[in-house]
Amino acid sequence: MTKKELLYEGKAKRLFLTEDPNLLIAEFKDDLTAFNGVKHDQEAGKGALNNKISTELFKLLEKAGVPTHFVDMPDDNHMLVKKVDIILIEVVVRNIATGSLTKRLGIEDGTKLPFALVEFYYKRDDLGDPLINDEHCIILDLVKNEGDLEELKRLGREINTILKSFFARKGLNLVDFKVEFGYDSKGNIILADEISPDSCRFWDMESGEKLDKDRFRQGLGNVKVAYEEVLKRILGE
Ligand code: ADP
Ligand code: UDP
Repeated sequence: MTKKELLYEGKAKRLFLTEDPNLLIAEFKDDLTAFNGVKHDQEAGKGALNNKISTELFKLLEKAGVPTHFVDMPDDNHMLVKKVDIILIEVVVRNIATGSLTKRLGIEDGTKLPFALVEFYYKRDDLGDPLINDEHCIILDLVKNEGDLEELKRLGREINTILKSFFARKGLNLVDFKVEFGYDSKGNIILADEISPDSCRFWDMESGEKLDKDRFRQGLGNVKVAYEEVLKRILGE
């Protein structure tokens, strides 16, 4: 499969058409952005790390029965994926309170939540990705029917159950994460985009060290070292 025309360039990836109308090639870039693109930098090798980490996690989820857009990883910076119509909802699942949740509701940072909290955010950079509820999703026509919202929540929770126990075995707390879904050519909802330290928070179980994009957001340094550590843990026994 070869890259044809550029379909879309985002903050972290470029999407290319291929000779197959149902397949796209995603190129993972080295760009790091935070605060809706206001903070921006480059970290050589970050794209390849996210591509490799996402590949491993998509394979793990597929094996556990979660449908994903993953087809192949032809090289370090590229992933072959099924083309989907992206659902403009960022599905966030949280196990521990941090980030925007603590700011919005005054919950103390690091509080373990009594159950996995699923939230929807409207995927609209120009509006700053606002928090929305089921009724907003229907009014905005973001899904085909109300049942699809339940499916997004079910899949979000299932992904959380699988990844949380996987990372626990690697000595990492899966604090929270964001996933995106889309409708494939048959109209089925499948997991798309990426699952990486750009879109998840990982805290080391022993030291509490942050091994994700918060290192960039908070200027803690050693961003690439942290992403390498996540890949090493995923690949190690
Ligand atoms: P952003 O658009 O937020 O800057 P990226 O730079 O990661 O993010 O861009 C990737 C874009 O591709 C996202 O908008 C994402 O929704 C979209 N996307 C991810 N997977 C697929 C897919 N399989 N088919 C179509 N679009 C996808
Ligand atoms: N997240 C993301 N993209 C976004 C917003 C959030 O990948 O546009 C991820 C983020 O990395 C974290 C989770 O979603 O793992 C929850 O993020 P939060 O709402 O706390 O946002 P933040 O504090 O980063 O504003």
